[in-house]
Amino acid sequence: SGRWARAMAILREFEEKCGTPIAKLRQVADAMTVEMHAGLASEGGSKLKMIISYVDNLPTGDEKGLFYALDLGGTNFRVLRVQLGGKDKRVVKQEFEEVSIPPHLMVGSSDALFDYIAAALAKFVATEGEGLHVSPGRQRELGFTFSFPVRQSSIASGSLIKWTKGFSIEDAVGQDVVGELTKAMERIGLDMRVSALVNDTIGTLAGGRYYDQDVVAAVILGTGTNAAYVERAQSIPKWHGLLPKSGDMVINMEWGNFRSSHLPLTEYDQVLDAESLNPGEQIFEKIISGMYLGDIVRRVLCRMAEEADLFGDTVPPKLKIPFILRTPDMSAMHHDTSPDLRVVGSKLKDILDIPNTSLKTRKVVIELCDIVATRGARLSAAGILGILKKLGRDTMKEGDKQNSVIALDGGLYEHYTEFRTCLESTLKELLGAEVSDNIVIKHSNDGSGIGAALLAASHSQYL
Ligand code: ADP
Ligand code: MG
Repeated sequence: SGRWARAMAILREFEEKCGTPIAKLRQVADAMTVEMHAGLASEGGSKLKMIISYVDNLPTGDEKGLFYALDLGGTNFRVLRVQLGGKDKRVVKQEFEEVSIPPHLMVGSSDALFDYIAAALAKFVATEGEGLHVSPGRQRELGFTFSFPVRQSSIASGSLIKWTKGFSIEDAVGQDVVGELTKAMERIGLDMRVSALVNDTIGTLAGGRYYDQDVVAAVILGTGTNAAYVERAQSIPKWHGLLPKSGDMVINMEWGNFRSSHLPLTEYDQVLDAESLNPGEQIFEKIISGMYLGDIVRRVLCRMAEEADLFGDTVPPKLKIPFILRTPDMSAMHHDTSPDLRVVGSKLKDILDIPNTSLKTRKVVIELCDIVATRGARLSAAGILGILKKLGRDTMKEGDKQNSVIALDGGLYEHYTEFRTCLESTLKELLGAEVSDNIVIKHSNDGSGIGAALLAASHSQYL
């Protein structure tokens, strides 16, 4: 029928606009490398902030003692403590607790958010068990993983540049987030020192390096997306400090804010961006990360309902509600292998109030999920290629046997199998078989929490 043809036309047009042929991915990777250079050359030189993290030493395995970490950067935050036993014993014990953030605190005041966090931390500290305690007379020390863009001013201080991922707390912008946390801890009488401020990518890099010295970069694919890597300090023109002894400096790219004319953007992406809390910003993140993928699918479905009556004569009202279709639900539909696509049918019914969908309609939904996930995964692979190019590790050198490991983490990477396998096969395709043998993508499960604790250890006031 004419309606079906119209629906197919919308689908095909969307597919075409989302296309990521290898040649385009190479352009994206090259643009990423160019922007990395620009961001390292001068402050404000690029959309990529290329933030100097002040982490010039990554964990070696010798770290010892009891350390805490706090991981804030999405819908949940986690508190964690680890007992480090040094080279042979490594992580002797590790305990954590996950606490969800009430939505009103994500858009309230800085004090309210940090008071809530400090209270949860104090409660966790109170559960410190037998044999787990800091040496007498010593203050507890914490690594703070704060996964929003921060202008770092030392290893343990930095001001918030802007919120992302649905947070919007105006009075915190420009403030030193370590100061905000420290004040909140003081208000409730919790005696703890923040000895390292990092974000999840740097935590993941540190956690990955603790177990594998070949780790050179870390990428997070979760609610948001970001990457960090180890740069030579002398290749950072905007760094005017002393050259660190190691010669290295970890760079927090903030790659979620990358954009390029080579990115395949559609009209749906443009509207999503315009209606977002941060229009014009985080464009790469908005086509790749878990916060947005489901909503892109919803937007295309909505158009198909409006212009091609995909779900009958009226547009299902719930289809108009932003973010109602979450990426975990999208991935559940995408992975549906039942002959009648029963998962797709029940998700459409339960989430969007659309009952009795035909098999043919369900297939369209899966195809849409595939288009959106494939674009995100392939662009992520292109971003990783950009980093490898910057490091000169995208080609084989004569007699070169060095391995490069990229630590990956985040709920999207961990749970969205189609996304993960597409990312990995695309990177292989981009690198070619020979180079691929020396590049390893490694899931660094919860590297970020333990990484922050490790960095607290290596930046302890008692060293
Ligand atoms: P955060 O990024 O908030 O710190 P995570 O790394 O755990 O936390 O990532 C959580 C995000 O991962 C969710 O917001 C969601 O977008 C995505 N995600 C979680 N589970 C799945 C899933 N099963 N399929 C696809 N995406 C998922
Ligand atoms: Mg996280």
